[in-house]
Amino acid sequence: MLTNAAATGAEDDVAALIVAAGRGTRAGGEIPKQWQILNGRPVLLHTVDAFRRAGITRIVLVIHHDDAALAQSLLREGVTLVTGGDSRDTSVRAGLDALGERPPRHVLIHDGARPLVSPALVARLSDALERGALAAAPGLAVTDALWRGVEGRVAEAVPRAGLYRAQTPQAFEFAAIRAAHLRHPGGAADDVEVARAAGLDVMIVEGDEDNIKITHPGDFDRAARLLAQRETAGVTHPAPFPDIRTGNGYDVHRFREGDGVVLCGIRIPFDQALEGHSDADVAMHAVTDAIYGALAEGDIGRHFPPSDPQWKGAASEIFLAHAAALVRKRGFALTHTDVTIVCEAPKIGPHAPRMQAEMARIMGLEPDRVSVKATTSERLGFTGRGEGIAALATATLVKA
Ligand code: MG
Repeated sequence: MLTNAAATGAEDDVAALIVAAGRGTRAGGEIPKQWQILNGRPVLLHTVDAFRRAGITRIVLVIHHDDAALAQSLLREGVTLVTGGDSRDTSVRAGLDALGERPPRHVLIHDGARPLVSPALVARLSDALERGALAAAPGLAVTDALWRGVEGRVAEAVPRAGLYRAQTPQAFEFAAIRAAHLRHPGGAADDVEVARAAGLDVMIVEGDEDNIKITHPGDFDRAARLLAQRETAGVTHPAPFPDIRTGNGYDVHRFREGDGVVLCGIRIPFDQALEGHSDADVAMHAVTDAIYGALAEGDIGRHFPPSDPQWKGAASEIFLAHAAALVRKRGFALTHTDVTIVCEAPKIGPHAPRMQAEMARIMGLEPDRVSVKATTSERLGFTGRGEGIAALATATLVKA
C-alpha cells in the first residue's frame, strides 16, 4: 500500500545522528575541528547540509556542552541539539535517546568531521536497509600494500585481501542499534562494533574516496578543494547567479646592476637585475595583487609588510601561494590569471612557457588557465628607456 508521506510522517522515517562532541584538535586550531571554518562556514554546517541535500530532514546533532553557544548561533532551526557525553558511545546513546521519543525506522550515525558525505552514498545505505539489512556501513577496499612497522622499519607485509577502510555514515534499523547500544559496555570505536557485539550482520556498501574525515591540518585544504569543485559543478545549493570576481594588479621595479632578473619565478640571465624587496619578481607581484584585489583583501604589502625583515630576499612564491590558499579559504576557486610584462628587454617570449608552468604549479591551476605575455612600450616612457619593468595582471575567481 502506498502511503502519503506528509500525512503519516514517513518523511521522518530516516534520521541522521551526527556526533560532534569530540575535542579533536589534531587538525590544528584553537577550537575543535568540527567548528573550524571551511570555505567560509563551520565544518559542521557543511555536514548538516550534506544530509539535507540527501533528502534527510530529521537531524540530531550531538555537541559538547562547551560548544552550546557556537551551535546556537550557527545552526538554523530544524536541527535538534543534544549534549553529548565524554566518549563517542555515550554521545551516540544520548542522540539515540533523543530520537527514541519519536523513533524513526532507520538511523544514519555519522561523524561530524566528514562534511563531504554524498547523496549517492546515503542512497546506497538506505537501499541496503530497504532490502532488509539491519545494519549497513560504507567501506573502501584497501588497495595499497600494507606493512606492519616496528621502530620505523618494515617488520612484515600484511595481507590486504578482505580488508576495508571504514567510513560513516553507518546505517541501522533504529530499534536494533538502540538495543545494541543499551547492552554494550562502552568503549567501541564505532557503531559497527556495537552492532556486531549484539550479533547484528553488517552489510558493507561501497564507500566514497571523497568522504574524508578531517583529522590533520592538510585535510582542510583537501576538503575545501572538494567542496569548491562540487560548488563549481553545481552539485550543492546553486547560487541564483554566478559569483564571479575579478581583480587587477600593477607593479613596477627599477633596474640595478646585476646579471639577471626573476620573472614569474623563472630566472632570466640579463645584464641588469631588478631592485626591490624580496626577489623583485614584478610579474608575480602583479598577479598576487590581482588575486588579493579580487578577494578585496588589500595587497602584498598588507599580508607581508616590507618593514618586516623576515621577507627580505624571500622568494615571491611565498606571496603567490598565500594568495591562492586564501582564495580557497574564502570559498572561491581561482579560475584564471593573466599577466602582461612591459619591457624592451630581456626578451620574454622564449621563457613564457616555463613561466606559465611555474605560475600554474604555485597556484595549483592547469597551465591553460595561466596566461603570461609581454609587450614593449615602443621605447616610450620609463620602460621604453629601459629604466625598469612594469607588469599588469588580472585574476578571476568563481564561487558557487
Ligand atoms: Mg613588487
